[in-house]
Amino acid sequence: MDAQRTLRRQISCVGIGLHSGNKVNLSLKPAPADFGIRFQRTDLGGHQVPATVNHLAGIQLATGLAHNEVSVETVEHLLAALVSTNIDNVLIELNSPEVPIMDGSAAPFIYLIHEAGVKTLSSPRKYLKIVRPIAMSRGDKRIALYPSDHFKVTYSISYDHPLLRHQSRTFRITEESFIEEVAPARTFTFLKDVEMLRQNGLALGGSLENAIVLGETGVLNNALRFEDEFVRHKILDAVGDLALVGYPVIGHLVAHRAGHALHTEFAAKILEETHAWRLVEAVADGSVAPSSLSVKHTAPRLA
Ligand SMILES: [Zn+2]
Repeated sequence: MDAQRTLRRQISCVGIGLHSGNKVNLSLKPAPADFGIRFQRTDLGGHQVPATVNHLAGIQLATGLAHNEVSVETVEHLLAALVSTNIDNVLIELNSPEVPIMDGSAAPFIYLIHEAGVKTLSSPRKYLKIVRPIAMSRGDKRIALYPSDHFKVTYSISYDHPLLRHQSRTFRITEESFIEEVAPARTFTFLKDVEMLRQNGLALGGSLENAIVLGETGVLNNALRFEDEFVRHKILDAVGDLALVGYPVIGHLVAHRAGHALHTEFAAKILEETHAWRLVEAVADGSVAPSSLSVKHTAPRLA
């Protein structure tokens, strides 16, 4: 079996909220098996917000969660870093509504996780293995999951901009490939949109330090980290949003021109389509075996 994992010790950092511009303290704390990933607002007492689709709220420019009137926003880059490094259980404390934007990528969160170290727990990890295709589209935006032996993501984007008319990439997502190929890719925005965001009181913490900004003909930042950094960042966002399913997914995610709204709507649809997946545990030879116990609890129609 693959065992569940948590952090070896607590770790903290300080950053700013992209939209509020406020300083935020973030702490990641070890948690027991089957705790999952939960947020806690230390400025609002003890209420916890589990990182699952049941608590989705306010999907606009980033992915937000809420529970008992306690909200957390811009969760996707941190979630992507946690699930890609196989951290199943962690308590995330924030003293503000927004996860700090850091440099606009998931790389600083990977650094934090590595600094904290990883602890293996005795309970088995359950995977959500796709056995039938699930698909969804909204206009020309499409997203689907197909059966596969591994977690893979294929993403394509197209914009009316000379630098990113069309980009497409496929990665098999492992801890190593995520850290090397996906985590460093930064979020991006268009200069023409920045003024509109500011007028609406958003992106007050945004700068060339935490986003790629595209002008009419080029990038305002000094350099890109990858030639196709934009589509890599979309893969990062999709991995983080898909984490809201609550289990690591075994399947091939294929998305075209999607965004947080479609990613998260799709994550909710996956859980509804219980005929299209099984909960399984990995066995010693690397293949997967049905997890009869968990199937009974979460998907009775499969029995
Ligand atoms: Zn993003």
